[in-house]
Amino acid sequence: MAKVLCVLYDDPIDGYPTTYPRSSIPHINGYPDGQTTPTPEAIDFTPGELLGSVSGELGLRRFLEERGHTLVVTSDKEGPDSVFERELPDAEVVISQPFWPAYLTRERIAKAPNLKLALTAGIGSDHVDLDAAIERGITVAEVTYCNSISVAEHVVMMILSLVRNYLPSHQWVLDGGWHIADCVQRAYDLEAMHVGTVAAGRIGTAVLRRLKPFDVTLHYTDRHRLPEDVERELGVTYHPDVASMVKACDVVTINCPLHPETEHLFDDDMLATMKPGSYLINTARGKICDRDAIVRALRSGQLAGYAGDVWFPQPAPADHPWRTMPNHGMTPHVSGTSLSAQARYAAGTREILECWFDGKPIREEYLIAEGGALAGTGAHSYSARTG
Ligand code: NDP
Repeated sequence: MAKVLCVLYDDPIDGYPTTYPRSSIPHINGYPDGQTTPTPEAIDFTPGELLGSVSGELGLRRFLEERGHTLVVTSDKEGPDSVFERELPDAEVVISQPFWPAYLTRERIAKAPNLKLALTAGIGSDHVDLDAAIERGITVAEVTYCNSISVAEHVVMMILSLVRNYLPSHQWVLDGGWHIADCVQRAYDLEAMHVGTVAAGRIGTAVLRRLKPFDVTLHYTDRHRLPEDVERELGVTYHPDVASMVKACDVVTINCPLHPETEHLFDDDMLATMKPGSYLINTARGKICDRDAIVRALRSGQLAGYAGDVWFPQPAPADHPWRTMPNHGMTPHVSGTSLSAQARYAAGTREILECWFDGKPIREEYLIAEGGALAGTGAHSYSARTG
């Protein structure tokens, strides 16, 4: 019987909710590319309830315990005395969410001789040292597509809120003011601006589709080009690399995974090539940007605004400079963990566990690494230093 160690974010500070603003969430059967939403044999939770925090347990306890497995759920993940490190040595499966990542470093993997499956309840497995996992033959899987649309919606919201100066204007209302000139001195229309995405995968393409009706000019760069008919339909211009794309854009949104090719992609040099007064939105991963270079670009005005929900490390310390830099619209890592997204990734996590324990193949699109190599989505979208 297996031990499953699951790291989730803390419950709300005033306790696990007993009511919700809406009584249900819309049901979705499939994603825009035809992939089906998760298909577990059953679920033991109510879609629309909080599943991603400790008490929600991703709805997994009954299913795992009925099969004789042990489930340990904790939010305590940092340092050698954490519950995570104490429970790790005999765990077969580790489940973690990018919002509250249990960093599976090479050192931690070495302390976990039984570890066979690192499962991301969400998308983005960069909190796992993929090279170390590959060397050990650990399977790494994530719930591909489960929250891609959730993030795309968040990106559009953040682009509009920065360009239109929404957050400072809202603050004037909270402060009891009516300071119109203060609100609008940094407010523009998005219409006719040039907007580019770094990567046109599931999120990047969904962002392009959602922005098209705003009458903007669209741009993208990616390692693989979109089909010609999609480029034509969206009227989107392809650029062979990030540097050539950012020169043409007023707004840049980052939608690629964090891997060796993309770490610190947006450093002082890249930021300097952007149009002065550009907006940068990063909901992909904090480390794709150089932390201090972003602060410098906002202070100098090279960037007119920066928004996103991803930081390094997570949770971000109270003195992280992105909390206090000018003209930012940062949130904690929330875009992919709406209640709607949680229902999908909890079901996807269950589907992957059912396959794992029944000895059935995990869907190809969920795989990041398997059998000592990148696999599935991982082989397409990631790069490894070794393996
Ligand atoms: P996809 O795998 O569908 O798309 C990723 C895209 O990035 C692929 O098209 C890939 O290219 C492209 N890419 C990889 N490396 C590069 C590079 N060096 N330059 C340009 N493009 C590159 O994933 P999603 O769109 O669903 O998610 C993307 C990322 O967003 C995740 O990896 C995760 O980090 C982040 N994310 C954040 C969430 C949040 O809550 N904030 C939630 C979900 C995801 P190709 O495959 O063509 O080689």
